[in-house]
Parts: sequence; C-alpha cells; structure tokens
Amino acid sequence: TAVIHIDDLKKHYEVGTQVVKALNGVSLSIEKGEYVAIMGPSGSGKSTLMNLIGALDTPTSGRYILNGTDVSHMSDDQLAEIRNREIGFVFQTFNLLPRYSALDNVVLPLIYAGVKKDERYDKGRQALENVGLSDRMTHKPNELSGGQRQRVAVARALVNKPSLILADEPTGNLDSKTSVDIMRLFEDIHNAGNTIVLVTHEEDIAQHAKRIIRLRDGVVESDEAVEKVLSSE
Ligand code: ADP
Ligand code: ADP
Repeated sequence: TAVIHIDDLKKHYEVGTQVVKALNGVSLSIEKGEYVAIMGPSGSGKSTLMNLIGALDTPTSGRYILNGTDVSHMSDDQLAEIRNREIGFVFQTFNLLPRYSALDNVVLPLIYAGVKKDERYDKGRQALENVGLSDRMTHKPNELSGGQRQRVAVARALVNKPSLILADEPTGNLDSKTSVDIMRLFEDIHNAGNTIVLVTHEEDIAQHAKRIIRLRDGVVESDEAVEKVLSSE
C-alpha cells in the first residue's frame, strides 16, 4: 500500500508580477517500508516538496494522498492534525526544547496525541532505549553531543509510530563520523519496517537510501533504485 501518492503536483509562487514554478508537475508514489532520498541542486524544489509531503503547506494544483487521506485541500488545523498523527519529523537543527530533558522532549508528540502520563513515559523510555540513549534520559540537549541530540530527535519522531519518517538534511550539522552513525540508525529504523523519506543535497548521504528521486527545475529528473556495491566489511 502506498504511504505517499502524489499526482501532477504543482506549487507556484507569485513574486511581484512573476510566477516562480517551484514544483511543476511532480508525480510519484512511495510504498510502505520504502527508504527514499530526495535529491537535487539548490533551487530544484526540494524544500517545497518536503513542505508538501510534510503537510506543512498545500499545493497550487495536483493531488497528494497521505496514507489514504487526500491532504491537498486541507485547512491549517486539519494539516496540523494529520502531521501529529502521521508524520515523524527529523530536522538538521534537531529542534529540541533546551529546558527539557531528553525524555521530556521525546514524549511531546504523545502529549499532543492525548496519551496518559504513565504510558507516555513508558513509550518515551523505550524510544530512547531503541536509539541507544537509555543512559541519557535526564540529560538536557546542551548536555548531549550533536549525535546524541539527533538520536533524541529520532526517538521523538518515532515515539508515536507514525506512518512516515520525514528527515530534512538530518546530518547537516554533524561531523562525518557522527553522520555515518546516524545513517546506521536510519538503516535500523528502515529494517524495522518504517517508511523513510530523506531530503538531502549530499550524494554520500543519499546513497544510504534504497531509492533516489532527483529533482531539477521543479520536476522529477530521475527516480531509481540505489545499486548496492557488494563489500566485505
Ligand atoms: P531547494 O530546496 O531545492 O533549494 P526550493 O524548494 O527552496 O528548492 O525552491 C524552489 C524554487 O522556488 C526556487 O526558485 C525558489 O527561489 C522558489 N521559492 C521557494 N520558496 C518560495 C517562496 N516562498 N516564495 C517565492 N519563491 C519561492
Ligand atoms: P562527542 O565526542 O560525541 O562530540 P562530547 O565530547 O560532546 O561528545 O560529549 C561526551 C559525553 O559527555 C557525551 O556522552 C555527553 O552526553 C556528555 N556531555 C557532554 N556535554 C555535557 C554536559 N554539559 N553535561 C553533562 N554531560 C555532558
């Protein structure tokens, strides 16, 4: 079953008397359990597509079906509800609340979902354990390394068991060794059956996915499976 079904999606911005065609007819489907990277040069439409897939914005025309629900024409309130229910976000800048512990950051989506306190903390602890941070639950973000902060953000994205994990340049603020660690974590998350869409401009990072969709000038330039080179590591 398709988690994402996008049909002839367009997003045009009016700037003065000009029309900027940020997306100009994108069609694609992403099935449950897929791990897809969206790539493209600066200005190709990645952020615009990410905002639409993430239900942060609606298209000028075309259709976007997320997990069976048409979100193309929803109001801001409806979009917010869909985001809370269906999508786990991971950002370049982690977006953690600085005064909150790792655990309190992770349980936030469960508060919005109306989950009771005991259950929230059980699920939050489990999520932090799953990303290898059982010994960092009470640490605040500034008491954690960059890689650990991103692990907290990944735990927060997963805690609600969303149908889609949407990661926007998740390694953009990490050194190369830590980036590889985080990409291994995404591999684990993929192997656990989650659907992942990763937006990146880094070829090395995109190669960790199983499929790469390349944008250029607001259209899909290519959409291909990643050929894995056999290695003996
Ligand atoms: P990328 O993320 O690949 O760099 P964007 O989606 O940010 O690409 O931008 C695609 C095109 O749309 C660019 O030409 C950009 O200038 C334009 N654009 C993006 N957002 C806006 C906006 N809010 N208003 C006007 N033009 C925009
Ligand atoms: P890295 O080598 O991954 O960059 P750091 O050197 O920043 O990590 O941190 C090493 C360890 O010390 C981490 O496990 C982190 O949780 C802990 N740590 C870092 N800063 C603080 C702090 N201000 N208070 C408490 N623990 C910290």
